[in-house]
Amino acid sequence: MATSKAAIPPFEVTPLDVISAVSSNARAAFRSHKTKDLQWRLNQLRKLYWALEDYKPAYLAALKQDLNKPGFESVFTEIDWVKNDCMFMIDNLETFAKTEKLKSPHVPTTYSMLNFRIKKEPLGAVLIIGPYNFPVQLLLAPLVGAIGAGCTAVIKPSELTPASAMVMKEMMESRLDRDAFAVVNGGIPETTALMEEKWDKVMFTGSPQVGSIIARKAAETLTPVCLELGGKNPAFVTKKANLALAARRLMWGKCLNAGQVCMNHNYVLVDKDVVDTFIEFLKIAYKDNFPNGAKASSDLARIVNVRHFNRIKKMLDETKGKIVMGGEVDESELYIEPTAVLVDSIDDPMMQEEIFGPIFSIYPVDTLDQALNIAHEVHKTPLSLMAFGDKSETSRILHEMTSGGASINDSYFHGAVNTVPFGGVGDSGWGAYRGKASFDNFTHLRTVCETPTWMDRFLRVRYMPYDWSEYRF
Ligand code: NAD
Repeated sequence: MATSKAAIPPFEVTPLDVISAVSSNARAAFRSHKTKDLQWRLNQLRKLYWALEDYKPAYLAALKQDLNKPGFESVFTEIDWVKNDCMFMIDNLETFAKTEKLKSPHVPTTYSMLNFRIKKEPLGAVLIIGPYNFPVQLLLAPLVGAIGAGCTAVIKPSELTPASAMVMKEMMESRLDRDAFAVVNGGIPETTALMEEKWDKVMFTGSPQVGSIIARKAAETLTPVCLELGGKNPAFVTKKANLALAARRLMWGKCLNAGQVCMNHNYVLVDKDVVDTFIEFLKIAYKDNFPNGAKASSDLARIVNVRHFNRIKKMLDETKGKIVMGGEVDESELYIEPTAVLVDSIDDPMMQEEIFGPIFSIYPVDTLDQALNIAHEVHKTPLSLMAFGDKSETSRILHEMTSGGASINDSYFHGAVNTVPFGGVGDSGWGAYRGKASFDNFTHLRTVCETPTWMDRFLRVRYMPYDWSEYRF
């Protein structure tokens, strides 16, 4: 029976002295070769799917406890999200895992008689470290890729969302293969201890600061890493944009999970001729979303803890910008009102730091050139980018500014479909997952060449002494 709301156990940190054993279990399970069997992988994916269904009430309660996450968001961005990932992987696994045969290699005729193939091999025992903002999705969606690829895995949820972490531990231990998959709970000491172990890949989702610590540690043992990081994502709103639509969609992006979304826009570069109208539309969107005020609504999550609440509040206190919408904060509820701040300098804290909360900074610009220059200066390789304008303007923005992913005339909806690759570029992330990329993320493409024994006479040319006299000098 899955944990009920009342029964979510108190947070229990995994003892440091068992972490080495957890990691060697995962390595031993991989060495048993059972994960290489496709049926075994499919069974684990089916078990994960049904476990998520059975544990839905427990996750809903845990996510409410951890982040006051609205039930709708918990289902669609966490629980059903991962269930859809499971279905996608189950439906496609056989195709993804199939050894590819090279039909007609572009090589001399003799070579075409060799049997070249590309085997899809699981990388091995992998470590998956997650952040707090989507405590189910961002641990288990990578896990779907690891299971599909045939890896064993240890996952480390964020200690900032302890209820979700405990539900996950119980679910994993009771439903999945216990040798192959494990959960380690804890914070910095436990993650540090996990990073002392040898892994075949580490997948980290979190802040760039910690991502850099993980990458440096992994480099000591040349362990490959996939990093899914954050950044300072721009949104562009030109004069020709549909302003009402831009305001409504950007407002939605800022309010989902109370703005604690890595792809969220950190700042909006708005043509100065339309900035007042844009702000008016934002206020309308606010009212439409929260007719009785955001604080009274059960559809706005809360900030994860006092430290993050104070971090965001400090930005509001220190900005030189003008608050043009919202601005209320209440520490007792970890509530931050959806807020818009008009700024005029890239040195403003609103522009310099990742906000990761329900606050807009709006920067009026004279031209699209100026907007692009500011975006480049603030962060030249953001995780996402959102462009509102006419076709030629949005094409120009896409052409002149890179990002991990991008949405045209929308908030970060490019990240909403889990069958396309998701990842950063440059310092917003290394590697990608979701869809087939989830499988590839944990797969080694191993080229195998099988040379028929009878072929040696055709290969005579490669043996010494070479008889191509024109090349002998
Ligand atoms: P974080 O980097 O503080 O923590 C992530 C994980 O690292 C946690 O499990 C934590 O326990 C561990 N950790 C923290 N400090 C550590 C240290 N010094 N050594 C070893 N491990 C450590 O991130 P967060 O605050 O939980 O999440 C917010 C950040 O994550 C934001 O920057 C956001 O943009 C980013 N994020 C990125 C994505 C993405 O897919 N690109 C998704 C969600 C969040």
